[in-house]
Amino acid sequence: MTSADQSRPSSTAPGTQVVSLVRDVRPWGGDRVDLHVTDGRFSAVTPHDPAAPAPSDAIDGCRLLALPGLVNAHAHVDKSWWGKDWVSYGGEATTQGRIAHERAHRDELGIPGVEVTLAVLRELVRHGTTAIRTHVDVDLGLGLRGIEVVREALAELRGAVHAEIVAFPQDGVLRRPGVLDLLDAAAAAGAEHVGGLDPASIDRDPVGQLDGLFAIAERRGVGIDVHLHDGGELGAFQIELMVDRTLRAGLQGRVNVAHGFAVGQLPAARQADLVAAMGEAGITMTTVAPIGAAPLPLPALHEAGVAVGLGTDGIRDLWSPYGTGDLLALTTQLARLSRFRHDDELVAAARIATTDAARFVGRDVHDLVVGAPADIVLVDAENVPDAVVRAPRRALVVAGGRVVAREGDVLV
Ligand SMILES: [Zn+2]
Repeated sequence: MTSADQSRPSSTAPGTQVVSLVRDVRPWGGDRVDLHVTDGRFSAVTPHDPAAPAPSDAIDGCRLLALPGLVNAHAHVDKSWWGKDWVSYGGEATTQGRIAHERAHRDELGIPGVEVTLAVLRELVRHGTTAIRTHVDVDLGLGLRGIEVVREALAELRGAVHAEIVAFPQDGVLRRPGVLDLLDAAAAAGAEHVGGLDPASIDRDPVGQLDGLFAIAERRGVGIDVHLHDGGELGAFQIELMVDRTLRAGLQGRVNVAHGFAVGQLPAARQADLVAAMGEAGITMTTVAPIGAAPLPLPALHEAGVAVGLGTDGIRDLWSPYGTGDLLALTTQLARLSRFRHDDELVAAARIATTDAARFVGRDVHDLVVGAPADIVLVDAENVPDAVVRAPRRALVVAGGRVVAREGDVLV
């Protein structure tokens, strides 16, 4: 029996209401509590007392399951065509083919643009995502315009989505002279991370690209987040280069490998050594739970202290028509690809999509606890495993203490 078959979260106030109290919810499937919110953060979590008087603007959570806001640790909100007429995919099925296809057609779709970015951001919010780490293309054609566009769109949502930005060299770094300077300028202008892309197969100079990125990170105090599709030993070699540089620069906890397919492909002993080295260097990983790829060894990564974040990657863009923006449904996919069946494994998947991802969006804590930003997702589910395997509709989404979506309607 689920918790609230007949009820919907309700309050007397419409629209993007500021929340002071969400009554009668079950955080992580636990006991019924009231969540008190002050200035956008949780100020108290108290046992639910049905007889206690509630302010008129209190939200009745109807005993629904409460999770923290979902954290999309690998997004590309600058390049989606969400909300536009269908765009048939026309590129070649290689990384270079996709890059060329995107460069040829993005202008006609208004990419990057505030409207298209807002469309995909709202879709994320509708599904309960309240914080993202988004890569934003930086290249010789666009300069830093994409970052400005994304910042403008985020500002329009007035805090519904907390974001960190990766200045992302989608078209390569060293093979496009001038891009390294653009990444440096982006970092100087406030991008939280500089990105990289397959230093070996795109630039054909892994040492050069990584040295360039680490020099910026040291100079500007920003993080590094490298897309690494290169598999097997070639990928492992580049991760080892990152481990060395991370330790040398004292950037533990600031360097992320996105995708890192190689980690899932290595023989067991080689994989164990590499994962241990990553843990010692405080390197993190983000996955998009791709179908067909060798799954990451999540338990081993967890044990070694390698934090893993989950992201959508691009959604409906010139790389691929796939993606819905539903990170909870993607959590189902992650769990299935990882062959998770036990409750504790399914809960771990939910943690990857929420609390464990705090570090990917620059937060110390992201949970339903006092002091954390008041980001809440309510779903009609019996418990967390039920929510993970079924990904039910988000009944209510609160971000920073404000109701931003309700029953599938976005309010921002
Ligand atoms: Zn990506």
